[in-house]
Amino acid sequence: MADTDYSRRTAVTGLSVAPTDATRLRELIAEWKRGCQLAVNEAWGVCHTRSEVQQLAYDRLREETDLGSQHAVLATHRAAEAIKRAEDRSGAKPEFTSPTVAFDTRTMTVFDDRTVSLTTTDERVRCDLKLPTGGGYQSRYLDDEDWEPAKSALHYRDGAFAFHLGFRTPRPEVDAPTEGATVLGVDLGVENLAVTSTARFFSGGELAHRREEFERVRASLDATGTRSASRTLRQAGDRLDRVVRQRLHEVANGIVDEAEAYDCELVAVGDLAEVADLLPEASPFHEWLFDRLVSFVEYRAAERGIAVVEVNPEYTSQRCMECGFTHPQNRDVEDHQFECLKCGASAHDDYNAAKNIAFRCVRRGPLSSRGLGAAACALQSGVVTPDDGFTPYAELSEAPKSD
Ligand SMILES: [Zn+2]
Repeated sequence: MADTDYSRRTAVTGLSVAPTDATRLRELIAEWKRGCQLAVNEAWGVCHTRSEVQQLAYDRLREETDLGSQHAVLATHRAAEAIKRAEDRSGAKPEFTSPTVAFDTRTMTVFDDRTVSLTTTDERVRCDLKLPTGGGYQSRYLDDEDWEPAKSALHYRDGAFAFHLGFRTPRPEVDAPTEGATVLGVDLGVENLAVTSTARFFSGGELAHRREEFERVRASLDATGTRSASRTLRQAGDRLDRVVRQRLHEVANGIVDEAEAYDCELVAVGDLAEVADLLPEASPFHEWLFDRLVSFVEYRAAERGIAVVEVNPEYTSQRCMECGFTHPQNRDVEDHQFECLKCGASAHDDYNAAKNIAFRCVRRGPLSSRGLGAAACALQSGVVTPDDGFTPYAELSEAPKSD
């Protein structure tokens, strides 16, 4: 199965690391950064595909760093991705400064006893995953045989390690969309859980509110620490779960209904790993909500022959859908208002972002190219294509059903 036929999720956990092992991991991170940089320096302006960069830089990484063979390969791939990204936005040569290193299933092993073994530049280290009390959402992936460990990353910040443990599962089977397919863009967020490129808004306020209520109950019950308190807390938790589940199903159904109403064969959402990075206001609770929501949408969409693709959401909130001008100040985060500094076009900022997400799927193809590109993106009043621009539904032979 091709790499892109999988859905991917990330479970973020702490690691308890013995002092000697911590030294080994930090040394690995230092060598990884150096290796990625060497590969970029070698390949910058020369090539950008994984295999090209690997061919060009692998030997040098093996000679000049302490990286093992597989980490040297991964570092050349990481360099290739960074070069590709920089080129896409005519950026400067990438610099590797963040204290992080990638792992794959050849450089890490996840064991049933909640430990993970990691390759370093020295001996392998084995450490405990630090999961939240009760196991957290992380344990659902660890315990679910449908999800297998996949590409992961170790981060070292403020004196502690965080492990972003990747999982993957085969995507539900959907026939590839026909040529000329239309895509519905979906922007994920905190205040609005989801907004479609056809201007349908799904509020997330109620869930955030319920969650806060739950946290207040938890805080007051934690203080008492009695057995009845923990029962009350469990019941409150179950209630919250039910409310969340029901709302996520409503939203997922709504999104897929919208896709169907506008004759879309594709739904594009922002890549979840990136979404979390781009939304500083998103809590782990929201990351978990997005994750569940996208799973629900994938399954509901698959039932109706609609495919879900993830696209890189970077800059989708800053880019003007009318003229393409991209600037952080195009957007007034407080007022949820997007107003282009160049052409003056204005819209709700999440709606503008949803249109950009759809358009990204049209223009560049989806992040994971399973051959699932779209020719047009669906807006409320018409479609946009790269060549013809905007065409109102009235001028198309077949207008979509409106709701
Ligand atoms: Zn503009």
